[in-house]
Amino acid sequence: DVDPVAYSLDKCPWQRKSAPYSFLAHGLATLSSTKSRIAIMNVLTNTLRAIIKFHPISLCPALYLLSNTLAPPYTPIELGLGPSIMSKAIQDVSGLTSAALRRLYNSTGDPGDVAFEAKSNVRTLVPHPSLLIVGVYDSLLKIAQSKGTGAAKAKQSIVQKLLVSAKGEETRYLVRTLGQNLRVGAVRTSILTALARAMVLTPPASIQSAGSASYASDALLAEIKPLPAGSKKKMADTARDDLLEKFTRAEAVIKKAYVLHPNYDHIAAALVDVGLDGLAERLPLTVGIPLLPTLGSPVRSLDEVYDLLGSQPFSAEFKYDGQRAQIHAARRSQGSNIVKIFSRHLEDMTDKYPDVSSLVQDIFANSQETESFILDAEIVAIDPVDGSLKSFQELSNRARRDVKLDDVKVSVSVFAFDLMYLNGEILLERPFRLRRSLLRTVFPPVVPDSTSAAQFQHVQSCESADGREAVEQFWQEAVSSRSEGLMIKLLDSGLVTEDNKSRRKPLPATYEPDKRTAAWLKLKKDYVTGLGDSLDLVPVGAWHGNGRKAQWWSPILLAVWDPSTGKLVAVCKCMSGFSDAFYKELKERYLEDSETCSRQPQWNYEVLTGGLKPQVYFKPQEVWEIRGADITISPVSVAALGMVSEARGLSLRFPRFIRVHDDKAVENASTPEFLANMYRSQQGKDRSGVDDGDLV
Ligand code: ATP
Repeated sequence: DVDPVAYSLDKCPWQRKSAPYSFLAHGLATLSSTKSRIAIMNVLTNTLRAIIKFHPISLCPALYLLSNTLAPPYTPIELGLGPSIMSKAIQDVSGLTSAALRRLYNSTGDPGDVAFEAKSNVRTLVPHPSLLIVGVYDSLLKIAQSKGTGAAKAKQSIVQKLLVSAKGEETRYLVRTLGQNLRVGAVRTSILTALARAMVLTPPASIQSAGSASYASDALLAEIKPLPAGSKKKMADTARDDLLEKFTRAEAVIKKAYVLHPNYDHIAAALVDVGLDGLAERLPLTVGIPLLPTLGSPVRSLDEVYDLLGSQPFSAEFKYDGQRAQIHAARRSQGSNIVKIFSRHLEDMTDKYPDVSSLVQDIFANSQETESFILDAEIVAIDPVDGSLKSFQELSNRARRDVKLDDVKVSVSVFAFDLMYLNGEILLERPFRLRRSLLRTVFPPVVPDSTSAAQFQHVQSCESADGREAVEQFWQEAVSSRSEGLMIKLLDSGLVTEDNKSRRKPLPATYEPDKRTAAWLKLKKDYVTGLGDSLDLVPVGAWHGNGRKAQWWSPILLAVWDPSTGKLVAVCKCMSGFSDAFYKELKERYLEDSETCSRQPQWNYEVLTGGLKPQVYFKPQEVWEIRGADITISPVSVAALGMVSEARGLSLRFPRFIRVHDDKAVENASTPEFLANMYRSQQGKDRSGVDDGDLV
């Protein structure tokens, strides 16, 4: 729904002529002959400078050809060229047999080299018109647009036409481009840096003639020529510093424009029209065009989180295991509302999620004040009946394209976690606290009646202001849930401790597109090594729950079995890993003042509780599998008393219920000896975590 921005080159019509493709091919050949980053940057910059100055109409196609793409990432367009079309076209143009081509391929290993060799012996009597950058790019678009019956033939004919006209290096790079493997070390960031430098050194004629700020000067030319020696050195140094500063500023402007508006058509047109100075205004964050997402930095433990963030307030959220979705929506008074859903890599997934599109329509229907928004969310597969989370694998069973609402087989919930744009206002520069509060107030949860419709929920979260204990508890909940762990997000812009821990640097709580920021930390379960082994413990007592758990027993007191004395010894309180259904059943199994639950310890087994005095005692009859973070020396526990410490027992930190062991009797539960051995074996072990390759 965004109109393509037209070039306004009326002032200099001669510039409408495209640059020759040979110029780009020459640049690509030079690029692939070097690994030096400086050389790559110089070649890219000079190539773009010449294009901007003499053939600005070629700028956009040149950017696509350099990056070996055809369109912005959110535009679904593919060449759809199989190797057989390519080799038929090369055969036809070169006159070589397929066996000869195969031999060439075996000796070179690259289709571009094959085509180059194959064509080098071809002599043409009639000269063919030269290839132009714009013409080559248009041909690629035509190849991509050829669909249906006869498409293969049509594609082959376009490739042949291109190959007939290609000369020398053009052939090699044309075929590499068609094969989607340019083998040139120019990544997106290098292209954007080079574009910024080119704009500084050689602003387009349209800008200069319009009298806008010109960045070019004699001093800048000194950068390209060798610097003068002797007395002129100081002057040259100043000019160099000046130039570098301009490069840095220009780079920031172009990269910012790209991360908010990743579309080379619009960027090239705006640069030619309004130059660097007008770029930000011309290419704002736009509903319908995805911005690059903020990314999280990995941490290994909550300790590391506190080391990094100190006392800066943060929110800890479940890291859901689904698919990231950037949802764009705008109300239209006439016609249908705009709804777009983009993936983490900015592909358009709107067709895949008709249920989420329909949810957005409901949001508009329910709130007349909501006109337009862009929000960040995770789409997660859920059980349609009880809403419980399902695995990512479950979500990946959904069809990918052109899904009809009635065909949706896997129900989902949209867990929204950020808001970047609301009713015409860009919120990226606002602190997370404000963005989150708007998200929560403007977009209430939606749980539709129909089980096939998508749900809308806010992410489950906890705040640092609730205290470290609460955050630790929340982490344990995340560990025992279907989530991947936690995302820890700075609520207000503040200061963060740098790696060497001696300095603090500012850390913004703004939305930072395309950045892996310390204001977004991810703590994955897999990063954290808990106890290798689980424990088998006996539930021996409990306390009355609070808040949501007021009707149930929570926490539950767990004990080890001491075979030497025939007694149960309390080891820890557990309040995580239980489902609501389990709590309910537990309350029924241990009804207060019944034959399984009493205020006095009056059962067949004696229970030593030490400092852990429960409100009620359960009849010892079950064994539960329990996992925990680690075993600690405890001032209140009397389990394994005297085995590791003379005066203190051992306890389990952050115990988490895994399951009931129906096959075990009380006498099969873990022993104090087992607990002490676990404690000893964890000593000296690096408990900071395992490296899954994601940590930097
Ligand atoms: P990963 O493999 O860890 O998902 P990634 O590179 O895709 O890594 P990261 O930035 O490392 O992305 O991790 C953040 C990802 O976690 C997001 O892209 C999003 O898909 C997902 N996620 C789930 N829940 C949340 C949440 N509450 N806040 C932010 N991101 C979340």
